[in-house]
Amino acid sequence: GQTARAGETARSAEYAARAASVIPGGVNSPVRAFGSVGGTPRFFVRGSGAAVTDADGTEYVDLIGAWGPALLGHAHPAVVDAVQEAAAKGLGFGASVPGEFELAEEIIARMPDVERVRLVSTGTEATMTAIRIARGATSRPLIIKFAGHYHGHSDGLLAAAGSGLATFGLPGSAGVTAETAAQTLVLPYNDLAALEHAFATHEGQIAAVITESAAANMGILPPDPGFTEGLIRIAHAHGALVITDEVLTGFRASAAGYWGIERPSMPEGLRPDLFTFGKVVGGGLPLAALGGRRELMEMLAPLGPVYQGGTLSGNPLAVAAGLATLRNADAAVYDHLAAAADALAVEVEDALTAAGVAHRVQRAGTLLSVLFGDYPVAPANYDDVLRQNTDQHRAFFHAMLAGGVNLPPSAFEAWFVSAAHDDSVIGRIAEALPAAARAAAAV
Ligand code: PMP
Repeated sequence: GQTARAGETARSAEYAARAASVIPGGVNSPVRAFGSVGGTPRFFVRGSGAAVTDADGTEYVDLIGAWGPALLGHAHPAVVDAVQEAAAKGLGFGASVPGEFELAEEIIARMPDVERVRLVSTGTEATMTAIRIARGATSRPLIIKFAGHYHGHSDGLLAAAGSGLATFGLPGSAGVTAETAAQTLVLPYNDLAALEHAFATHEGQIAAVITESAAANMGILPPDPGFTEGLIRIAHAHGALVITDEVLTGFRASAAGYWGIERPSMPEGLRPDLFTFGKVVGGGLPLAALGGRRELMEMLAPLGPVYQGGTLSGNPLAVAAGLATLRNADAAVYDHLAAAADALAVEVEDALTAAGVAHRVQRAGTLLSVLFGDYPVAPANYDDVLRQNTDQHRAFFHAMLAGGVNLPPSAFEAWFVSAAHDDSVIGRIAEALPAAARAAAAV
């Protein structure tokens, strides 16, 4: 493949200016703006497999993967065919289509603790609805979330939320009422004592604990051994539900998400109550889902008193893309993703070590991210991650981009490999790494 030609960003720069004159910040989701790394955000015009091409004709190896959906690589023929076929039959009817129950069946087949599924359009809706079910089921007002976990942009979930809020250094969002904010308790991750204390302080008031199954919106930060088990035990002992957010990790960290990695070592019967999914499950189109035990999920209208709906929910193109993605994501794909992530982790470690850059490569299943700075002990929570050297990240990011590798433009995001990241693609990344490591060392 071609290598990036540094400086040739005229078209992207022109587009960015034009976008900024009609769209706030020129973007429809904040992290895309290169706000924390600076420089010209690239506009992309094409993607195929592991490669993406920007508006100036430069091709990059992509490690964003559309922030998760591109598990099979960009424009996978099976997914494109499925979407084209569905589109030719009509873009939606405002009535049910067979693909909806087929996708629900596919999710249930992979997630043994999910008995019923509802399809929505975004991860934000999935977590918002799961919380509404939890409040409906328990008649309690409060929610616990962990600092640095991102669950979308609904009002109650924006405190200490990781992702774009971490990227831009925001503690939360304006426009959220004090009353709403007060209904979310934010605790440090991986701290069961803090969780016990919160339940003791607010006895009978906490509807649910929502947690990313492995934190992936402050970089990757997996739960400590025993944390998930302790969390479920404590929540259930106090009559609260556990919502496991697999929007990012679902059908990616393993075939059954990060919960699929932890479940085999969990005591019988110790299970989260509700799960949320997004990204991979929609194959790149706007689709997300929530699922869980039948009696909880059947609290949703039209069977129960908890209301939720959506004009575009279960859209036939989106379910076609999700189905084609999941049906093609077989065991070989997950083995490949794991091997690609392992190989990439080794290359990054080697390059940074050779350049004398203190760092940690963080892992959760097939996901990885890089933390710059001295971490003699593995980070456990948001405060630990906030201590990283974002100046080094910025230098590394730009050198990788100049070397033809499209990394997330934030120190607080995961790196995504795909089924198309083969040895030659990893080799191309490896070629860009030494210069990027030296750039980080020079900071
Ligand atoms: N939960 C998690 C764990 C996520 O990573 C995200 C998105 N990055 C969301 C929820 C929100 O999903 P969406 O952007 O589709 O609303």
